[in-house]
Amino acid sequence: IGFMIEPIQRLTHMSTQLQEGITGFQRFMEIMNLKPTIENKPNALILPKVDGDIEFKHVSFRYEDHLDRVLADLSFHVHPGEYVALVGPSGAGKTTLCSLIPRFYETTGGDILLDGINVRDIDLRSLRSSIGIVQQDVYLFAGTVMENIRYGDPTASEEEIIEAAKHANAHDFIMNLPNGYHSEIGQRGVKLSGGQKQRLSIARVFLKNPPVLILDEATSALDNESESIVKESLESLARGRTTIVIAHRLSTIRNAGRILVLTTDGIVEQGTHAALLAQEGVYAQLYSKQFEQ
Ligand code: ADP
Ligand code: MG
Repeated sequence: IGFMIEPIQRLTHMSTQLQEGITGFQRFMEIMNLKPTIENKPNALILPKVDGDIEFKHVSFRYEDHLDRVLADLSFHVHPGEYVALVGPSGAGKTTLCSLIPRFYETTGGDILLDGINVRDIDLRSLRSSIGIVQQDVYLFAGTVMENIRYGDPTASEEEIIEAAKHANAHDFIMNLPNGYHSEIGQRGVKLSGGQKQRLSIARVFLKNPPVLILDEATSALDNESESIVKESLESLARGRTTIVIAHRLSTIRNAGRILVLTTDGIVEQGTHAALLAQEGVYAQLYSKQFEQ
């Protein structure tokens, strides 16, 4: 359960602790005698292998009990292995859009396809195990470093966890902690820097090894050294996976194969950094506002 609850929690602005989140939610559902609104269809498909082709077809979305539509008639296609940056003003719906892919919310119109299959027809566990998420705010729980990384794949061996930590550039700092991988994190344990926490969350996703990756890039800067190490780990994580990055940094945006510009009017422009600048439209304006003095 925790395996699937974790990203839900992070994406839905629920700020409670993981444990409270689960039990609180279950208790709420019991009291209300409600079924969770998002569940498997009968005979939901378990995907044996996912290439990571993602298509939005006329997708609309509105949060329950809210009048305003956040997304209206969005269509775009991301091919397996593609690296796409999503940019746009705050409140445009970037985070919301990404949360629809693992079905943390259900679209109110249109369809989202993974490898040509409607995500509503896919077994939730199968769907969510094929998607890795790295968020701005890293959620770590009280426990050891090892346990926190194992969260990415509860069946992983110690060797696999260490391998994942190495890929995430986390192994060296972990080995310098008082008890290495068995060091306790949390209030009574070791204190980690923002960059170290980020790398643990990246190690989790390396361990999970999903074909699809969603990155919500941090807006607040880490210190310079952490910044470049985290950036390197993320680039290595994205290699060979379909990646959608909610991008705030110019370097990320420039490196993207394609940029989708999302505003409250929808996806208003798409193309490479150079092509979009030449267009002198919304992206060019956004760019000059954000990155030039
Ligand atoms: P972005 O990531 O581009 O800044 P968001 O997807 O976070 O945009 O938000 C898009 C819109 O949806 C905003 O108007 C925001 O207030 C609203 N919104 C976001 N999350 C929720 C929620 N859980 N419930 C209701 N409205 C939400
Ligand atoms: Mg956001």
